[in-house]
Amino acid sequence: FFRPIEKINAVIESYPKGIAGFQRYLKFLETRPDIADCPGAKDLPRAEGRIRYDRVGFGYRGGRRVVEGLDFEIAAGETVAFVGPSGAGKTTICSLLPRFYEVTEGSISIDGIDIRDLTLKSLRDNIGIVQQDVFLFAGTIRDNILYGRLDATEEEVRHAARRARLDEMIAALPDGYDTIVGERGVKLSGGQKQRLAIARIFLKNPPILILDEATSALDTETEQAIQASLAELSEGRTTLVIAHRLSTVTKADRILVVDGRRIIEKGSHEALVANRDGAFYRLAKAGMG
Ligand code: ATP
Repeated sequence: FFRPIEKINAVIESYPKGIAGFQRYLKFLETRPDIADCPGAKDLPRAEGRIRYDRVGFGYRGGRRVVEGLDFEIAAGETVAFVGPSGAGKTTICSLLPRFYEVTEGSISIDGIDIRDLTLKSLRDNIGIVQQDVFLFAGTIRDNILYGRLDATEEEVRHAARRARLDEMIAALPDGYDTIVGERGVKLSGGQKQRLAIARIFLKNPPILILDEATSALDTETEQAIQASLAELSEGRTTLVIAHRLSTVTKADRILVVDGRRIIEKGSHEALVANRDGAFYRLAKAGMG
Protein backbone atom coordinates (compact mmCIF):
# COMPACT_ATOMS: atom_id res chain seq x y z
CA PHE A 1 0.00 0.00 0.00
CA PHE A 2 2.73 2.47 0.87
CA ARG A 3 4.96 1.70 -2.08
CA PRO A 4 3.34 4.11 -4.54
CA ILE A 5 3.56 6.89 -1.95
CA GLU A 6 7.25 6.24 -1.42
CA LYS A 7 7.72 6.48 -5.15
CA ILE A 8 5.86 9.80 -5.30
CA ASN A 9 8.17 11.13 -2.59
CA ALA A 10 11.16 9.92 -4.55
CA VAL A 11 9.97 11.81 -7.61
CA ILE A 12 9.36 14.95 -5.59
CA GLU A 13 12.71 14.79 -3.83
CA SER A 14 14.67 14.31 -6.97
CA TYR A 15 13.09 17.38 -8.56
CA PRO A 16 12.73 20.02 -5.88
CA LYS A 17 11.58 22.60 -8.41
CA GLY A 18 8.67 20.37 -9.21
CA ILE A 19 7.38 20.16 -5.67
CA ALA A 20 4.96 23.07 -5.85
CA GLY A 21 3.42 21.93 -9.11
CA PHE A 22 3.21 18.30 -8.12
CA GLN A 23 1.70 19.07 -4.74
CA ARG A 24 -0.85 21.31 -6.40
CA TYR A 25 -1.80 18.34 -8.50
CA LEU A 26 -2.03 16.00 -5.52
CA LYS A 27 -4.21 18.60 -3.88
CA PHE A 28 -6.45 18.67 -6.91
CA LEU A 29 -6.86 14.91 -6.60
CA GLU A 30 -7.92 15.33 -3.01
CA THR A 31 -10.22 18.30 -3.40
CA ARG A 32 -13.10 16.44 -1.77
CA PRO A 33 -12.13 15.32 1.71
CA ASP A 34 -15.74 14.24 2.26
CA ILE A 35 -15.33 11.59 -0.42
CA ALA A 36 -13.57 8.69 1.20
CA ASP A 37 -13.78 4.91 1.38
CA CYS A 38 -17.06 3.72 2.88
CA PRO A 39 -16.77 1.27 5.77
CA GLY A 40 -16.17 -2.20 4.33
CA ALA A 41 -15.24 -0.85 0.88
CA LYS A 42 -13.79 -3.54 -1.37
CA ASP A 43 -11.00 -3.42 -3.89
CA LEU A 44 -12.14 -3.63 -7.48
CA PRO A 45 -9.79 -5.93 -9.37
CA ARG A 46 -9.34 -5.13 -13.04
CA ALA A 47 -12.89 -4.35 -14.20
CA GLU A 48 -14.53 -5.68 -17.32
CA GLY A 49 -15.83 -2.16 -17.74
CA ARG A 50 -19.62 -2.41 -17.81
CA ILE A 51 -21.04 0.87 -16.53
CA ARG A 52 -24.55 1.70 -15.39
CA TYR A 53 -26.05 5.01 -14.30
CA ASP A 54 -29.28 4.31 -12.45
CA ARG A 55 -31.59 7.36 -12.02
CA VAL A 56 -28.57 9.53 -11.19
CA GLY A 57 -29.01 13.12 -10.04
CA PHE A 58 -26.42 15.58 -8.82
CA GLY A 59 -26.01 19.21 -7.72
CA TYR A 60 -22.75 20.91 -6.73
CA ARG A 61 -22.49 21.51 -2.98
CA GLY A 62 -26.10 20.55 -2.53
CA GLY A 63 -27.12 23.37 -4.87
CA ARG A 64 -29.67 23.05 -7.63
CA ARG A 65 -29.43 19.89 -9.66
CA VAL A 66 -27.22 20.17 -12.71
CA VAL A 67 -28.04 16.65 -13.92
CA GLU A 68 -31.01 14.42 -13.15
CA GLY A 69 -32.73 11.24 -14.18
CA LEU A 70 -29.60 9.85 -15.84
CA ASP A 71 -30.41 6.29 -16.78
CA PHE A 72 -28.10 4.49 -19.18
CA GLU A 73 -25.78 1.55 -19.54
CA ILE A 74 -22.47 1.34 -21.38
CA ALA A 75 -21.28 -2.09 -22.45
CA ALA A 76 -17.74 -3.24 -21.74
CA GLY A 77 -15.47 -1.95 -24.51
CA GLU A 78 -18.10 0.40 -25.95
CA THR A 79 -17.32 4.02 -26.88
CA VAL A 80 -20.00 6.52 -25.99
CA ALA A 81 -19.85 10.19 -26.96
CA PHE A 82 -21.56 12.83 -24.83
CA VAL A 83 -22.61 15.85 -26.85
CA GLY A 84 -24.62 18.93 -26.01
CA PRO A 85 -24.38 22.68 -25.57
CA SER A 86 -21.85 24.24 -23.20
CA GLY A 87 -22.94 23.91 -19.59
CA ALA A 88 -25.33 21.03 -20.35
CA GLY A 89 -23.64 18.73 -17.86
CA LYS A 90 -21.34 16.49 -19.95
CA THR A 91 -18.28 17.00 -17.75
CA THR A 92 -20.33 16.62 -14.59
CA ILE A 93 -21.73 13.28 -15.75
CA CYS A 94 -18.21 11.95 -16.38
CA SER A 95 -16.72 13.29 -13.13
CA LEU A 96 -19.22 11.28 -11.11
CA LEU A 97 -17.69 8.01 -12.34
CA PRO A 98 -14.27 8.36 -10.61
CA ARG A 99 -16.18 9.87 -7.65
CA PHE A 100 -14.67 13.34 -7.98
CA TYR A 101 -18.17 14.20 -6.78
CA GLU A 102 -20.72 12.00 -5.10
CA VAL A 103 -24.12 11.39 -6.72
CA THR A 104 -26.96 12.93 -4.74
CA GLU A 105 -29.59 10.59 -6.16
CA GLY A 106 -29.49 7.14 -7.68
CA SER A 107 -26.33 5.14 -8.16
CA ILE A 108 -23.51 4.33 -10.54
CA SER A 109 -22.14 0.84 -10.87
CA ILE A 110 -19.20 -0.80 -12.60
CA ASP A 111 -19.62 -4.50 -13.46
CA GLY A 112 -22.75 -4.44 -11.27
CA ILE A 113 -20.98 -3.08 -8.16
CA ASP A 114 -22.01 0.29 -6.73
CA ILE A 115 -18.92 2.52 -6.98
CA ARG A 116 -19.49 3.68 -3.38
CA ASP A 117 -18.77 0.11 -2.25
CA LEU A 118 -15.32 0.23 -3.85
CA THR A 119 -12.10 1.68 -2.47
CA LEU A 120 -11.36 5.01 -4.14
CA LYS A 121 -7.90 3.86 -5.10
CA SER A 122 -9.03 0.70 -6.86
CA LEU A 123 -11.89 2.59 -8.55
CA ARG A 124 -9.53 5.26 -9.90
CA ASP A 125 -6.88 2.69 -10.84
CA ASN A 126 -9.48 1.32 -13.25
CA ILE A 127 -10.11 4.68 -14.93
CA GLY A 128 -7.79 6.69 -17.16
CA ILE A 129 -8.57 10.34 -17.85
CA VAL A 130 -7.24 12.47 -20.69
CA GLN A 131 -8.13 16.06 -19.93
CA GLN A 132 -7.94 19.15 -22.11
CA ASP A 133 -5.26 20.68 -19.90
CA VAL A 134 -2.46 18.21 -19.49
CA PHE A 135 -0.71 18.49 -16.16
CA LEU A 136 3.08 18.66 -16.50
CA PHE A 137 5.33 18.92 -13.53
CA ALA A 138 8.89 20.19 -13.67
CA GLY A 139 10.80 16.97 -14.00
CA THR A 140 12.13 14.77 -16.76
CA ILE A 141 10.00 13.58 -19.58
CA ARG A 142 10.43 10.06 -18.17
CA ASP A 143 8.97 11.06 -14.80
CA ASN A 144 6.11 12.79 -16.51
CA ILE A 145 5.22 9.58 -18.34
CA LEU A 146 5.90 7.48 -15.23
CA TYR A 147 3.17 9.42 -13.50
CA GLY A 148 0.75 7.08 -15.33
CA ARG A 149 2.02 4.17 -13.20
CA LEU A 150 4.78 4.90 -10.74
CA ASP A 151 6.18 1.38 -10.53
CA ALA A 152 6.60 0.90 -14.29
CA THR A 153 9.92 -0.27 -15.67
CA GLU A 154 12.05 1.71 -18.13
CA GLU A 155 11.02 -0.65 -20.91
CA GLU A 156 7.33 -0.15 -20.12
CA VAL A 157 7.79 3.63 -20.19
CA ARG A 158 9.47 3.42 -23.60
CA HIS A 159 6.80 1.09 -24.92
CA ALA A 160 4.05 3.51 -23.81
CA ALA A 161 5.90 6.42 -25.45
CA ARG A 162 6.14 4.45 -28.69
CA ARG A 163 2.44 3.61 -28.64
CA ALA A 164 1.61 7.29 -28.11
CA ARG A 165 4.04 8.14 -30.95
CA LEU A 166 6.03 10.29 -28.61
CA ASP A 167 9.31 8.44 -29.15
CA GLU A 168 10.52 10.42 -32.18
CA MET A 169 9.96 13.69 -30.40
CA ILE A 170 11.83 12.38 -27.35
CA ALA A 171 14.73 11.19 -29.50
CA ALA A 172 15.06 14.73 -30.87
CA LEU A 173 15.27 16.29 -27.39
CA PRO A 174 18.73 17.25 -26.06
CA ASP A 175 18.75 14.67 -23.26
CA GLY A 176 16.09 12.26 -24.53
CA TYR A 177 14.06 10.82 -21.67
CA ASP A 178 16.18 12.80 -19.17
CA THR A 179 15.18 16.15 -20.66
CA ILE A 180 13.58 18.44 -18.09
CA VAL A 181 10.18 19.70 -19.19
CA GLY A 182 7.80 22.19 -17.68
CA GLU A 183 8.09 25.84 -16.78
CA ARG A 184 11.88 25.87 -16.40
CA GLY A 185 12.61 23.18 -18.94
CA VAL A 186 11.76 22.42 -22.52
CA LYS A 187 8.32 23.74 -23.40
CA LEU A 188 6.08 21.19 -25.05
CA SER A 189 3.52 22.09 -27.68
CA GLY A 190 -0.19 21.42 -27.16
CA GLY A 191 0.03 18.33 -29.37
CA GLN A 192 3.10 16.99 -27.54
CA LYS A 193 1.38 17.43 -24.18
CA GLN A 194 -1.63 15.51 -25.48
CA ARG A 195 0.70 12.71 -26.57
CA LEU A 196 2.32 12.68 -23.15
CA ALA A 197 -1.12 12.30 -21.57
CA ILE A 198 -1.84 9.43 -23.96
CA ALA A 199 1.48 7.75 -23.09
CA ARG A 200 0.59 7.96 -19.38
CA ILE A 201 -2.67 6.15 -20.01
CA PHE A 202 -1.04 3.48 -22.18
CA LEU A 203 1.28 2.90 -19.24
CA LYS A 204 -1.59 2.81 -16.74
CA ASN A 205 -3.60 0.53 -19.05
CA PRO A 206 -7.01 0.96 -17.39
CA PRO A 207 -10.15 -0.80 -18.70
CA ILE A 208 -12.15 2.45 -18.56
CA LEU A 209 -11.30 5.73 -20.23
CA ILE A 210 -12.68 9.26 -19.97
CA LEU A 211 -11.65 11.59 -22.78
CA ASP A 212 -12.30 15.28 -22.47
CA GLU A 213 -11.80 16.39 -26.02
CA ALA A 214 -9.90 19.65 -26.46
CA THR A 215 -12.05 22.59 -27.51
CA SER A 216 -9.11 24.72 -28.62
CA ALA A 217 -7.97 23.61 -32.03
CA LEU A 218 -4.56 22.18 -32.77
CA ASP A 219 -3.45 22.39 -36.39
CA THR A 220 -5.33 19.93 -38.59
CA GLU A 221 -2.46 17.52 -39.12
CA THR A 222 -1.64 17.30 -35.39
CA GLU A 223 -5.31 17.04 -34.63
CA GLN A 224 -5.76 14.06 -36.94
CA ALA A 225 -2.68 12.32 -35.56
CA ILE A 226 -3.89 12.82 -31.98
CA GLN A 227 -7.35 11.55 -32.90
CA ALA A 228 -5.75 8.41 -34.36
CA SER A 229 -3.76 7.85 -31.16
CA LEU A 230 -6.85 8.37 -29.02
CA ALA A 231 -8.77 5.88 -31.14
CA GLU A 232 -5.99 3.35 -30.59
CA LEU A 233 -5.98 4.12 -26.87
CA SER A 234 -9.70 3.50 -26.58
CA GLU A 235 -9.56 0.12 -28.35
CA GLY A 236 -10.78 -2.59 -25.99
CA ARG A 237 -11.59 -0.05 -23.26
CA THR A 238 -14.99 1.28 -22.23
CA THR A 239 -14.72 4.91 -23.30
CA LEU A 240 -16.72 7.97 -22.32
CA VAL A 241 -15.82 10.90 -24.52
CA ILE A 242 -16.92 14.48 -23.95
CA ALA A 243 -17.07 15.32 -27.61
CA HIS A 244 -16.83 18.66 -29.31
CA ARG A 245 -16.10 17.50 -32.84
CA LEU A 246 -18.32 15.84 -35.35
CA SER A 247 -15.47 13.57 -36.47
CA THR A 248 -15.29 12.13 -32.95
CA VAL A 249 -18.98 11.36 -32.64
CA THR A 250 -19.18 9.67 -36.02
CA LYS A 251 -16.64 7.13 -34.75
CA ALA A 252 -18.41 6.47 -31.43
CA ASP A 253 -20.56 3.36 -31.01
CA ARG A 254 -23.32 5.44 -29.47
CA ILE A 255 -24.12 9.08 -28.84
CA LEU A 256 -25.88 10.49 -25.77
CA VAL A 257 -27.21 14.01 -26.25
CA VAL A 258 -27.24 16.03 -23.02
CA ASP A 259 -29.35 19.13 -22.55
CA GLY A 260 -31.40 20.73 -19.82
CA ARG A 261 -29.85 18.46 -17.16
CA ARG A 262 -30.99 15.29 -18.88
CA ILE A 263 -30.12 12.92 -21.66
CA ILE A 264 -32.62 13.86 -24.28
CA GLU A 265 -31.60 11.58 -27.13
CA LYS A 266 -29.45 8.49 -27.60
CA GLY A 267 -28.52 6.21 -30.42
CA SER A 268 -26.03 5.44 -33.13
CA HIS A 269 -24.78 8.28 -35.33
CA GLU A 270 -26.72 6.93 -38.32
CA ALA A 271 -29.95 6.80 -36.34
CA LEU A 272 -29.52 10.28 -34.89
CA VAL A 273 -28.61 12.07 -38.14
CA ALA A 274 -31.59 10.44 -39.81
CA ASN A 275 -33.93 12.13 -37.34
CA ARG A 276 -34.29 15.61 -38.82
CA ASP A 277 -36.45 16.76 -35.91
CA GLY A 278 -33.98 15.51 -33.34
CA ALA A 279 -31.68 17.44 -31.03
CA PHE A 280 -28.55 15.83 -32.43
CA TYR A 281 -29.43 16.83 -35.96
CA ARG A 282 -29.84 20.44 -34.84
CA LEU A 283 -26.57 20.37 -32.89
CA ALA A 284 -24.62 18.86 -35.76
CA LYS A 285 -26.06 21.42 -38.15
CA ALA A 286 -25.05 24.22 -35.82
CA GLY A 287 -21.50 22.85 -35.64
CA MET A 288 -21.79 20.93 -32.35
CA GLY A 289 -21.65 22.17 -28.74
P1 ATP B 1 -18.75 22.42 -21.51
O1 ATP B 1 -19.03 21.78 -22.82
O2 ATP B 1 -18.75 23.92 -21.59
O3 ATP B 1 -17.55 21.87 -20.81
P2 ATP B 1 -20.54 20.75 -19.94
O4 ATP B 1 -21.67 20.22 -20.75
O5 ATP B 1 -19.40 19.85 -19.70
O6 ATP B 1 -20.04 22.12 -20.56
P3 ATP B 1 -20.60 21.04 -17.08
O7 ATP B 1 -19.21 21.58 -17.01
O8 ATP B 1 -20.84 19.67 -16.59
O9 ATP B 1 -21.18 21.20 -18.55
O10 ATP B 1 -21.54 22.06 -16.27
C1 ATP B 1 -22.90 21.79 -15.96
C2 ATP B 1 -23.40 22.88 -15.01
O11 ATP B 1 -22.74 22.76 -13.74
C3 ATP B 1 -23.13 24.31 -15.47
O12 ATP B 1 -24.25 25.09 -15.12
C4 ATP B 1 -21.91 24.71 -14.71
O13 ATP B 1 -21.90 26.10 -14.48
C5 ATP B 1 -22.08 23.95 -13.38
N1 ATP B 1 -20.77 23.59 -12.78
C6 ATP B 1 -19.77 22.91 -13.38
N2 ATP B 1 -18.74 22.70 -12.52
C7 ATP B 1 -19.10 23.28 -11.33
C8 ATP B 1 -18.49 23.40 -10.05
N3 ATP B 1 -17.29 22.88 -9.81
N4 ATP B 1 -19.18 24.07 -9.09
C9 ATP B 1 -20.41 24.57 -9.32
N5 ATP B 1 -21.04 24.48 -10.50
C10 ATP B 1 -20.42 23.85 -11.51
